[in-house]
Amino acid sequence: AERGPALEVRDLTTRYGPVTALNTVTVRARPGEITAVLGANGAGKTTLLRTISGLVRGSDGSVLLGERDLTRAPAEAIARAGVAHVPEGRGVITELTVEENLRLGDLLGARRADRRYHLADVYDLFPALAERRRREANSLSGGERQMLVIARALLSGPEVLLLDEPSLGLAPRIVARIFGILRDLVDRDGLTVLLVEQNARSALSIADAGFVLNLGRVVAAADARTLAADDELRHAYLGF
Ligand code: ATP
Repeated sequence: AERGPALEVRDLTTRYGPVTALNTVTVRARPGEITAVLGANGAGKTTLLRTISGLVRGSDGSVLLGERDLTRAPAEAIARAGVAHVPEGRGVITELTVEENLRLGDLLGARRADRRYHLADVYDLFPALAERRRREANSLSGGERQMLVIARALLSGPEVLLLDEPSLGLAPRIVARIFGILRDLVDRDGLTVLLVEQNARSALSIADAGFVLNLGRVVAAADARTLAADDELRHAYLGF
């Protein structure tokens, strides 16, 4: 029998005071796939990730990790349940070295019996980080910082990886490299990724499925190829 979604958001509504950022949003990420969440600035993509990981509270709807209801769980419990959130803006700790940043993820991962990645694994995945392991994180390029926060999240032992705009401000060549590594991880290890992107073209090139948000509502949901082939949808919402 087919397995259910690894992560399921059902009829989620999230408000900031009078602003309804998400309006009865349903999004599912199947296990071992990359699911893209696309849409323009302000569509609600960041709010979706922040609600899933418990950083903001939904007013209605539910969030399920497998069978487990995380809807009202505190952020720390959600992280411990296996949801790793890599926020927009690459929050590395700039005064620490690359390796010290990675050890923070490693500390979290040490609590998980089923962890897949150790320090040596992420250095294999991202050789640039291995070369710079003793450098302060503030010496890294934007692409290397993005690799560092992804590597740190992998070390925490996630079942589901939430990525907020990893391509932002990076050269296309670097985006292609990072997305290629993500695709390999998903194919090789069965990792589940929910990928928020404004860069719909690149995201759809590696995603299995996608959801398009506009003004807090899901306006399209399909496999990635179908979304990428839909001229009207691309022009109206995806910007390519
Ligand atoms: P971006 O690409 O800018 O991150 P997004 O698709 O992620 O855009 P959100 O950041 O989730 O969109 O914002 C959705 C809506 O909620 C927008 O109208 C935004 O102005 C509003 N919003 C977001 N954060 C807050 C907040 N802390 N207080 C009030 N309104 C907010």
